Amino acid sequence: MAKAKNPAFAKATAGKQDNDIMPKLTALCKQRGFIFPSSEIYGGMNSFYDYGPLGVELKNNVKRAWWQAMVYSRPDVVGLDSAILMHPKIWEASGHVQNFTDPLVDCKKCKKRFRADNILEAKGIKPDLGTMKNPPKELQECPECGGELTEVRMFNLMFKTFMGPVEEQANIVYLRPETAQGIYVNFLNVKDSLRLKLPFGIAQIGKAFRNEITPGNFTFRTREFEQMEMQYFVNPKDADKIFEEWKEKRMNWYLSLGMKKENLRFREHEKTELAHYAKKAADIQYLTPFGWQEMEGIHHRSDWDLSRHMEYSGQDLRYADLSTGEKFTPYIIETSAGADRAALMFLLDAYQEIEGGRSTTTESIKESETVLNFDKRLAPVKIAVFPLSKKPELQKPCQEVLDFLRGERLVQYDETGSIGKRYRRQDEIGTPYCVTVDFETLEDKAVTVRDRDSMKQERIKISELKNYFAEKFV
Ligand SMILES: [Zn+2]
Repeated sequence: MAKAKNPAFAKATAGKQDNDIMPKLTALCKQRGFIFPSSEIYGGMNSFYDYGPLGVELKNNVKRAWWQAMVYSRPDVVGLDSAILMHPKIWEASGHVQNFTDPLVDCKKCKKRFRADNILEAKGIKPDLGTMKNPPKELQECPECGGELTEVRMFNLMFKTFMGPVEEQANIVYLRPETAQGIYVNFLNVKDSLRLKLPFGIAQIGKAFRNEITPGNFTFRTREFEQMEMQYFVNPKDADKIFEEWKEKRMNWYLSLGMKKENLRFREHEKTELAHYAKKAADIQYLTPFGWQEMEGIHHRSDWDLSRHMEYSGQDLRYADLSTGEKFTPYIIETSAGADRAALMFLLDAYQEIEGGRSTTTESIKESETVLNFDKRLAPVKIAVFPLSKKPELQKPCQEVLDFLRGERLVQYDETGSIGKRYRRQDEIGTPYCVTVDFETLEDKAVTVRDRDSMKQERIKISELKNYFAEKFV
């Protein structure tokens, strides 16, 4: 396990990897239908993205794998899908109205906006409330043009909107900045309706919104994003042990889906950097081209959440253990991951550029090849089907193969260009298997199946294809 490091270290090591990868990956994502800039025909909207036909598959596969690991594989975790707009008092209880803020400064000359804490950290000064109120000279001068900066203003990151026809204060509601609160406020409903006993968890996947001042790095930090959160309710005496267990389980989830071990590490939060609700916290970080970055947080939240909701709602959320007669407020261990971040990290982890190509056919020599070597469960397109040529006699058997394979998983058809080119197009989007229908198929009722990673080819009877792939995609 990695030693605890502070955020300044993460910044210092940033950018040591290949800096070309992000622009290349962003271009590939757009060209091949993974991720598009949102609202592009209107000039786009900064840091909003749309998932294209392949991107939605990848993200769905990530979410499915998470749900399988967190809900279907466990006897003690159940699912939930709570509303995005909730009672505004929830965000008072959670501390978001008061504490979910960034300190901002604006340059009076170039009009650029900065986060005051970022400016200070970059200059080796520890940002705290004192430095915000009595800014040192480092916080009076624009880091880009040297112009004068405004004083620090606190800016709440929650998006506000209005419920009902009248835009007045009384009707303000917030787009949720996290899915977790929807779980806490349903603690009693879920526990009672399913007659659950501690410890148990509630898992939720859903959108959350934060009006980030400095979004960026493609889909890494965006204002609209999807979370995969699980809140595990425990007896306080077991909390420390269970926190450690979930850390390991969550790290293993990324490894089990093929993420490279050397690109993953834990970062334990030091006492001074813990959020107001956290007793302990650890990040699972991924080594991106822009440095080690948080992909998931595992948090020991003590009884903070349920205590606050008891205080603000007036409801008794304590748990009565009938076997021991104890009554207590459960502690919560949270695992909080981003679906968009995970999808991006899986893309980065799978991205390979092979100089000079890896095929031996003459046409591809010296061409560099891109391969996304996703785990098969994450690959958007599972199988591609090609006719060797566009000759009409291959159409019928090709259609037969397509009809046979479609329905369970995404299958793509491609008849354009040489077979070598078509293989490379599929390698570039991470398709694990390509099936070629050729003239021999007319005689032997078999096809050639080519494996993305080994590039080995096998002759398989059409009638056996379903079983063949059922075994490959367990
Ligand atoms: Zn400036």
